[in-house]
Amino acid sequence: MTQLTVVRGDLTRQRADALVNAANSSLLGGGGVDGAVHRRGGPAILAECRALRAARYGRGLPTGQAVATTAGDLDARWVIHTVGPRYSAEEDRSALLASCYRESLRVADELGARTVAFPAVSAGIYGWPVEDAARIAVETVRSVRTEAEEVRFVLLDDRAYDAFTARLSRTA
Ligand code: ADP
Repeated sequence: MTQLTVVRGDLTRQRADALVNAANSSLLGGGGVDGAVHRRGGPAILAECRALRAARYGRGLPTGQAVATTAGDLDARWVIHTVGPRYSAEEDRSALLASCYRESLRVADELGARTVAFPAVSAGIYGWPVEDAARIAVETVRSVRTEAEEVRFVLLDDRAYDAFTARLSRTA
């Protein structure tokens, strides 16, 4: 049985087997979680990301997919980079956001990760309303079969923390 937990804090200060990065498709860093992962994780992660771009993702990692690197100086074994969709009021992109969680957990299982920590993918720079982002995150993780013992949502601000906490208690 996978335990779902919620904590308030900085993803890059978590200890877990795998930390999920809300990356952009370039894999070459950005703001928000991505910036923090590379700042705190050091240059080894970026070097691996560059190698992945060269070897497998010449046009970037597609939205909704996930790929792992090692975790550099972070207190984890792996970083799983996933690319969330930008929120659109015109187009329903929920399936792509769900795919980020599903694919990240698939990669985590392949690696043998037992604890996996996620941020609120797409709920920052990509503009996804956080209550809806929390709903998709929790519903998807609950519906996936994974070997992970703990899936932890790590939320930086009160609003995201409250949204994830409310959603978890609602669907428990
Ligand atoms: P995206 O581009 O997918 O929207 P962001 O990194 O901009 O990704 O934001 C995703 C969510 O993560 C937002 O709720 C943001 O407030 C939060 N966030 C930003 N930095 C961190 C961090 N270091 N740890 C945890 N959450 C973070």
